Amino acid sequence: MNGPFVLPVRDISRRPGEMREHAFEVTLAERWGEGIVSVETGAVVDLDVRLESVHEGILVSGTADAEYVGVCGRCLTDISAPVEVEFQELFAYPGEEETDFEVQDDHVDLETLVRDAVVLSLPFQPVCQPDCPGLDPNTGERLTASAGAESTAPIDPRWSALQQITDQDGAAESRAAEKEES
Ligand SMILES: [Zn+2]
Repeated sequence: MNGPFVLPVRDISRRPGEMREHAFEVTLAERWGEGIVSVETGAVVDLDVRLESVHEGILVSGTADAEYVGVCGRCLTDISAPVEVEFQELFAYPGEEETDFEVQDDHVDLETLVRDAVVLSLPFQPVCQPDCPGLDPNTGERLTASAGAESTAPIDPRWSALQQITDQDGAAESRAAEKEES
């Protein structure tokens, strides 16, 4: 049994109470995730794993750190962000218990366990920033975070005509507000 996520457990197998810790890295040979963000082929997954021998098998717990890449679901900007997940699963001795995971030939293979944990933690609707305003529905241009908000920066007079058009609604509202105040 081999593979980048396979760990030996022979030295703690059938010895309840024994424990081993492993810290290692795996470079992915395939992409993890099918959504608009994923952990790419060649990305490194950092693992901290604890193997505990229990009566029924080997209890595997740990954390995996990686980075996902993809695009913002609103504005399509390239994004990347860290992903950290925790996992825990009992790898039962063969014949001991109905389980998805088994100790095989004195080894445990964590690949499915870690991959599922990472993929499930990927954001379903990733955004470049929490308040990403997305794309302008008319032009398809990316809106900036300050669009529609009051800007104190001086406006180039050549743009002021455009600015008036885009600000029309907001300006009308603020004029109305000013009238009420005065
Ligand atoms: Zn965005």
